[in-house]
Amino acid sequence: MTVAPHDLIIVGAGPAGLTAAIYAGRAAIKPLILSGTMPGGQIASTNLVENFPGFPEGVNGFELAMSFQQQAEHFGAELVMEAATEIDLSSRPFTVKTHSQTYTGRAVILATGAFPRRLGIPGEREFFGKGVSTCATCDGFLYKGKTTVVIGGGDSAIDEGLFLTRFADKVVVVHRRDELRASKQLQERAFAEPKMQFVWDSVATEILGDEIVSGVRVRNVKTDEQTVLDADGVFVYVGLIPATKLVAGQIKLDPAGYIVTDAHQRTNIPGVFAAGDVQNPEFRQCVVAAGDGATAAIQAERFLSVHP
Ligand code: NAP
Repeated sequence: MTVAPHDLIIVGAGPAGLTAAIYAGRAAIKPLILSGTMPGGQIASTNLVENFPGFPEGVNGFELAMSFQQQAEHFGAELVMEAATEIDLSSRPFTVKTHSQTYTGRAVILATGAFPRRLGIPGEREFFGKGVSTCATCDGFLYKGKTTVVIGGGDSAIDEGLFLTRFADKVVVVHRRDELRASKQLQERAFAEPKMQFVWDSVATEILGDEIVSGVRVRNVKTDEQTVLDADGVFVYVGLIPATKLVAGQIKLDPAGYIVTDAHQRTNIPGVFAAGDVQNPEFRQCVVAAGDGATAAIQAERFLSVHP
């Protein structure tokens, strides 16, 4: 079924999309926001957000995302809990399809975010959901009294590893270098946490198990020595991949697949804007995504006033 054109369709309901919806709603644009089945984006599965302004004690990521959503709906955003399955940016109004509907919009904000990169090693896919996870906030409680391995050395690995220490007896971080990428504050907390251990200069080469995970084979990249670490759970945090599959070939992407925008969140297609992690490989922070979303909505409103 095709419905009448919307002024603005926002694809994605993380901090960027929801903030864009708040700004668009307040500008009386009444945006349609396609959230997928899980609104909130990556921040919704972050345990503790300590760096979003206004929360001196920190805030749970899910609660923060839900308040973004309530605020967007309060200002008139129409949230549809369906994912876009096709996007056609070849002519205005632009077309966005879901499994059940075809929507058209005079302007579009792409805020589809990024998703966790997988290691691509044997056992990772087979044991996904059977001990392999990319979300400690979601699955950590399953590992009470158990041993977990976290792969990666960025903020996600360390933040989620610290969260795991609430449940697990041991959290072993396997990192490919001898220095973490995570912020100094997270590093200090991790090094002070007695349940956390570090295996440096090492990469995971195989996830082992029978019905469920029992261990991880790791290789020291300096000595080539291979060892097996016991593990009941393996949490993979090796970065993110931008969710640009639906627009690849239609819009300008950088070599890593991120949407290219200018400082006003404009893409190379007039009327199409992008905000948040889908276009910002460098500063993937909730507050930055929210700022991008605000800019994109203001620009969309200006665009629509000139190109109704
Ligand atoms: P990230 O910063 O890109 O870090 C990815 C980590 O995985 C790096 O340590 C990287 O190693 C390692 N890695 C990448 N590919 C690998 C491979 N094939 N095998 C083994 N290790 C591999 O990703 P992220 O930690 O998910 O963070 C994403 C963004 O979200 C960042 O901007 C981060 O600041 C932000 N974030 C912030 C918070 C917070 O502020 N509390 C929490 C979570 C995320 P190298 O270090 O050697 O490159």
